[in-house]
Amino acid sequence: MGCPTREKSAMHTVARIRKLGFRRWYERTLIEAYAHLVTCLLGTILAFAGIEMVVTRTGPAHGLLGVGVGALGIALSLFGVSHFARIFSLAQRLGARATCPSCGTYAIFTVVAGGPEEEQPPDDAPETDGVWLKVKCRKCDNTWTI
Ligand SMILES: [Zn+2]
Repeated sequence: MGCPTREKSAMHTVARIRKLGFRRWYERTLIEAYAHLVTCLLGTILAFAGIEMVVTRTGPAHGLLGVGVGALGIALSLFGVSHFARIFSLAQRLGARATCPSCGTYAIFTVVAGGPEEEQPPDDAPETDGVWLKVKCRKCDNTWTI
């Protein structure tokens, strides 16, 4: 049995790809990933602002506030970078396999099946960050796993 959070996340990904279609899912996922990257950068700026507040403190309260601001910045940075890395990596891995191996059409397919990797890994499934999709090309009816 795998991690329930990861399985839930995988099922959410499969449901979103089914609902939006792969191209729109891919586009929105990249936008979401870059939003997390911006969060990371803003957190880094906040962390440096906190450090500066501690260095240039005028009293204990100001120094304590600087520590708080710095800690918040570090937390935001770590949250942003970890989510960016996970989401961006998933989008890139699935996007790299979205081309039909038979006719070469990119991302024009119907999701036949899908789920968390631990649940039912197909024999020909590559490393997929916890998500696998069995898809059928709408142009040539070829079926493959991404
Ligand atoms: Zn095809």
